[in-house]
Amino acid sequence: MPLSKDQIVPALVQLLGETGVVSEVGDMAGYVSEPRHRFHKQAQAVALPRTVAEVQAVMEWANEVGVHIIPQAGNTGLVGGQVPLFEDEVILSISRLKGVRNVDAAAGHMTLDAGTTLQEAHDIAEDAGMMFPLYIASQGSARIGGVLGSNAGGVQVLSYGNARELCLGVEAVMADGSIYKGLNALRKDNTGYDLKDLLVGSEGTLGIITAATLKLFPKPDAHETALLNVASPEAALELFAMMRARAGNTLTAFELMPRIGIDFQLKHGMMAQDPTAEMSDWYVLVEISVPKGGAAGGLSQAVESAFEAGLVSNGVIAETLSQREALWNAREQMSEVQSREGASIKHDVSVPVAAVPELIARGSEAAQKAVPGIRPVPFGHLGDGNIHFNFSQPEGADGMAFMDGADAVHDAVYAVVRDLGGSVSAEHGIGQLKTGLLKQVKDPVALKMMKAIKSALDPKGILNPGKVLG
Ligand SMILES: Cc1cc2nc3c(=O)[nH]c(=O)nc-3n(C[C@H](O)[C@H](O)[C@H](O)COP(=O)(O)OP(=O)(O)OC[C@H]3O[C@@H](n4cnc5c(N)ncnc54)[C@H](O)[C@@H]3O)c2cc1C
Repeated sequence: MPLSKDQIVPALVQLLGETGVVSEVGDMAGYVSEPRHRFHKQAQAVALPRTVAEVQAVMEWANEVGVHIIPQAGNTGLVGGQVPLFEDEVILSISRLKGVRNVDAAAGHMTLDAGTTLQEAHDIAEDAGMMFPLYIASQGSARIGGVLGSNAGGVQVLSYGNARELCLGVEAVMADGSIYKGLNALRKDNTGYDLKDLLVGSEGTLGIITAATLKLFPKPDAHETALLNVASPEAALELFAMMRARAGNTLTAFELMPRIGIDFQLKHGMMAQDPTAEMSDWYVLVEISVPKGGAAGGLSQAVESAFEAGLVSNGVIAETLSQREALWNAREQMSEVQSREGASIKHDVSVPVAAVPELIARGSEAAQKAVPGIRPVPFGHLGDGNIHFNFSQPEGADGMAFMDGADAVHDAVYAVVRDLGGSVSAEHGIGQLKTGLLKQVKDPVALKMMKAIKSALDPKGILNPGKVLG
């Protein structure tokens, strides 16, 4: 018999005090609803531990009495992993576990409590004269525990890697309340299974990350940024290879955008004028980070060669910070502008980089067959093979009726992704949104291994039940 709310709340109050528990339905609103408002379930309570010992106490109790716990950090996840799936669950928010444990700029790492926001992590790194290079639009709210829990990506994965690659070690409270003390700063450690890598990206199903040691990098001296007109995704891919060959790891962003996204931004007043002098079917935003002591001007030389090679037909290189910001806005507004254009069906997918043009061509064609008039808006991290393959409703269509056909569009796109050897979730994870899909697409042996790990580390199924594995 699951415990009732009348049993759960007093038990939590005993562990965390009155101020450590939220239980009124109205007060829990900000915790049970996620950014896109797609998943709606009440929780029995929200636990707000202030210390790692309090997280342990809650988990020991939950494991003993069989109460399900949903780890939550900044609540910006896009697949519903951080909100309840069933109404008998308790959210454990790590938002009050904030702080700096250590910063070692010379050695290139810092250790932060998991409730620290990503923006705060950037500020802490900056104060030490360094950089933590994980940038996502939700960084003001997203917290280190959630960023690691979901293995977030962002716009500089190309050069620095995703959250997993930026993390050296974690501390985590496991389902039974025991603590995994893996906060090492070792760059090399071959002593068996990599438990840090297992916990990062586990979406709160294996343990609750309470602190992490993160890599720091020297701050670049300058950024050189351009928006370039290219004829097609194929030309963009060729340009990427050329830029990468010239700039190597200093090529920190290579983002693809279709003309339709620029048209939407002009139409909805998010952009005053065309960003380059001539219209183009496709654009890429390219950024090179110039290291301290490095030579400036590498981007304009590369762009000149690209013009000569016929890969680029027009473009603009930012000369001021505000011009750089305007170019980035054009990229970052791509998602929001789609909601102003009506309903949209979205896919966060990846394929081998060389297959991106084929993904876009075949995926667009397949979706247009499924829903005539549907408007493809594929954009994103071409350099990572990660495209946000979104589709806007046909002009003048009824948004609700359009969304009723979403499954046919998903099937069409995911079939192409699978055929190209890609992933159905590149950045955002599985959560509760894609559990059915995971079962269909994941290698059966991989699924068996994942289930074995889950039952070994959380035999009673206390942490985030039903998420990821279904
Ligand atoms: C506007 C916007 C832009 C975004 N852009 C990007 C992007 O560019 N790239 C990208 O990858 N994502 C992006 N996201 C998705 C989201 O912001 C990231 O996944 C983020 O890392 C989640 O962090 P969070 O603190 O909000 O975690 P939450 O949403 O609270 O949780 C996310 C997952 O992690 C688990 N979790 C939470 N805390 C812990 C913990 N302490 N230990 C273990 N597991 C935990 C949760 O159970 C859940 O499964 C975006 C979201 C929004 C709203």
